Parts: sequence; structure tokens; C-alpha cells
Amino acid sequence: MPLGYKIVMTCDRTMASSYHGLMFLGFSACLPQGILPDCLYYPLFCPNARADKRGALVFANYGTRKIEAALLAGGFAREDIIVAHPDHLHEVIDENTKIVSISSNDPLGIGPATSTFVELWGGEGRMAVKLREVLVNPAIRKHKPKLLLGGPGAWQFAVHPDKQRELGIDCVVVGEGDATAPGLFKDALGGKSLEPLIYGAPASDDDIADIVGGSTIGIIEATRGCARSCAFCIPSVKKVRSRPLERILNEVQTNLDAGNTGALLHGEDILLYRSDGLRVNSDAVIHLFETVRNYPGVQWVGASHASLSSALSSPATIEGIARVLKLGSRHHPATYFQVGIETGSSTLIRRHMKGKVYPYDPKDWPRVVHDGFALLHENHIVCTSTIILGLPGERKQDIEQTTKLIRSLRPYQSLIVPLLFTPMETTRLEYAAGLYKKDLTARHHELLATCWDHNLHWLPALWANYSHKANPLLKGVINFGMRLGMPIVKNRIHRYAEKHKVRQP
Ligand code: SF4
Repeated sequence: MPLGYKIVMTCDRTMASSYHGLMFLGFSACLPQGILPDCLYYPLFCPNARADKRGALVFANYGTRKIEAALLAGGFAREDIIVAHPDHLHEVIDENTKIVSISSNDPLGIGPATSTFVELWGGEGRMAVKLREVLVNPAIRKHKPKLLLGGPGAWQFAVHPDKQRELGIDCVVVGEGDATAPGLFKDALGGKSLEPLIYGAPASDDDIADIVGGSTIGIIEATRGCARSCAFCIPSVKKVRSRPLERILNEVQTNLDAGNTGALLHGEDILLYRSDGLRVNSDAVIHLFETVRNYPGVQWVGASHASLSSALSSPATIEGIARVLKLGSRHHPATYFQVGIETGSSTLIRRHMKGKVYPYDPKDWPRVVHDGFALLHENHIVCTSTIILGLPGERKQDIEQTTKLIRSLRPYQSLIVPLLFTPMETTRLEYAAGLYKKDLTARHHELLATCWDHNLHWLPALWANYSHKANPLLKGVINFGMRLGMPIVKNRIHRYAEKHKVRQP
């Protein structure tokens, strides 16, 4: 009897992890292969995900779960589909398998964060290496199913179709897959020839099916898309939708059934849940957090992203969230929002990201960032944020303004990750030039050193908050490593900062 499934959905190994329950550790996949030996990287940052006895992931990447749900809603049979652990592909693929569909965040290792770290430190993008390992899996080579690829990094093949051919991927879907997947998978099963690249149509509310299996760290989509329309960003091309609360609760229940203990609400700006534009609907946001937090069995609630403009425009919403989540208490010392700073320059914000500042004026952006950080800090919400060096049109005074802004954020517990500008397909800046290590100026280096210094300052406190529920062994190892390594790293950063200090004439 064949063991294989007709449709096998999977991901690369960097996505097959619950990251010790700490979603932020997932970003470690952007660290190039070779920076940290695998024997340390995987146990510390990316422990292997659980698989059941069939080889299925117990908790899978949310995007893959969404496509699985879309296929089931589109009439595919449950027994034909498996969301498989990448280490178990040999158990689920055989001559019966017609499609292997892979989700990838950064298939060629050229996403903004990976590119930045590869540029600065060398090595090769880890996610690209791990994707190749999936593609050369002996079961795939032997049975030659159709290979489909989607996920946040799919745009990379629109820029590099030659790489897609090299890797033998039959079809790449860029953008949303909910509405597109059922038809595409039917064509693939029917043996029709597939277009190598498809742009997925934005799904209507009815097309967005509820997930039917556990998602990584209980992540659940509350909103999709972003109306702020930053010129460099992929979600800017998406239609904005808030999912009905009862659908969110269905997915909470699915996650509890699978063994998750809480819910991580996802949205590009969670504070715009049920907003009719860019104004915070405070009652709806607090009601969302409160209802999910009070759902029987839920022990914690977090959120993925928020915008500083929304936060500052509605302090009552932030205070309400902190109250509902009991932030600052022993069991819930803090929560984390990813927020975008991108630049401290009002000129660059006005040029590329006017919507990010709304309801404020671009000239107020540095104040919005500073006061937004202060507000979130006071309410035990830690900002994990990004800045972008080399935005098109960047002048030396823009870099200086960003450095000044980052220095002003020192009192607020946060992490600030500097990225080198990388143009991405489907964004308004897709044809702009990226920034490379060779182009970095002394001012860029000074800004980089300011960010590393800020992060090092806050790392012990962040780790204390973030790790309160972590495995004690992992906690002990990292605490020991920090005690040992911090003085060395601090010393190196200070030498780096001194070397690149911009001396005014
Ligand atoms: S606010 Fe964030 S998600 Fe929205 S368009 Fe800008 S960068 Fe993208």
C-alpha cells in the first residue's frame, strides 16, 4: 500500500521550529550559514519542530496552514494532503505524490535582513541553503512531483527566473495564495502545464478559510494587508482586511486543540484592527485582545506588529491592551511589538512613507518615534524595530538625523535592527538601487555602531523578560554565554564605533 500523500506541503528547516516559544528568535534564520555552527544554532535558536507519527508538523507555519485550509475548502480530500515536517519527506512522498508545495521566507537568501547580514559578515543565506536541501531530497528526486513554491520570499523568483529554473521549481506564486491555490493545485494534479510565475489574486473575505491545524506559536491572522503604503514594502500592495472575531476565535480553538497555550495576533498594524482607514478603533482593538485573552484555555496573548503612529495617536488603546494582558506582572512582565522606525529623517519619510506617519505630519516623525517608544515602554511593551540605511535619495544629514534619533531612544527597552536597503519586486521601489557594504560611508558605520550599542545595552533586560518561560537549560546556557561574551562584544563595538566616529571639521 502506498504511504505517500497526493499533496505534500512543507517548508525549509528554519521554519520547522517553535523557536522555544519566542517568535523573535525566528529572525535568527536571517543569520548567514557559517556565522554560528549548526550544532549551536539549532538547539539555541531553532529547535526542531514536533512531528506526529505520520511525519506531519504538529505546529506549522501559518501561511502553509492557510493554503491547506483553502485546499480543503476548495474540495480537496483531507486524506490527500499532509503538512509535512521537512525531515520526514521520505516517509510521505512516493509514486502517489503529485505535488510538493514549499513555503519559504527567503528562498534565495536575498531578503533585506539576510542580505544585510551576509553583506556585513559574509557567509550564505541560511534559508537558501535549507531550501536547496528540501529540493534535493531523494524522495523528490526519485518521484518527481510538481514543485510549487510560495510564501513571503516568493517575489525573489520574479527577479531571478534563472534561479527558479536551476532549482527545478515548476511554479512560484507571488502574493496571496488563498484564492489561487485550489485552481492551481487542480491544474497540477490534472497534469496541465503550469505558468512558471503567478501573481496570486487578493482573497475576498469568503476565500480566507480558517486554519485546521496548529500554527507556530499560536499565530493567528487578525488583519491582512496594510494601508500605510510604504514604498519599499510588500504588504503595501495588499488589500486591507480585518477578520471577524468569531473566525479568529475558531483559530484560537484549533490552536488550543493542537496543544498551543496562547495566541499571537498577527497584523501589519494590529492597532488598526477594524479601523475604517488609518484611525485607531480603540474599542474594537481592546475588545479583540480582551476576548481572545478571556477565551477558555488561553494563557497568554501577544501581537506581531504595530505602528508607532497608531500607538501614539491612541494612548488609551495601549493602556487598555496592557491592562487586559496584565503586563508588568510576574507572569507577564512584558510583551513585544515589531514596529518600523526606518529613518529619523522627515524628508525621507515624506518621500517614501508618508502613510506611516498618519495622523501626524512627516515633519513630526522623529517625535512620533520617540514618544511612541516612551509610551510603549511605560506600558511594558518592548519595541523590536528596524531602520533602513540607504533609502533612495538618502543624504548625509538624513543619516545623522537617524543616528540622533536612535541615541534618543536609549532610555527605552527595545531592539533596533539596522538593514541595508534592498529593493523588492512588487514594491514601488523595485527598480531603485540597493545599498551594499562597499557603499557604506563613515556616517553609516556610526549609525550601525549606535544600533549595536543600543541593543547590547538592553540585551540582558530583554532576555530576562523574554526568557521567563523559556527552557531552564537554554536560559542557563544563554545567561552563561552572555556573562562571558558581553564584555568582549562591548569592547569590539566600542572600538568599531571609535574607528568609524564621524569627526566634524
Ligand atoms: S507600515 Fe509597515 S507593513 Fe505597512 S506598508 Fe509600511 S512598512 Fe509595510
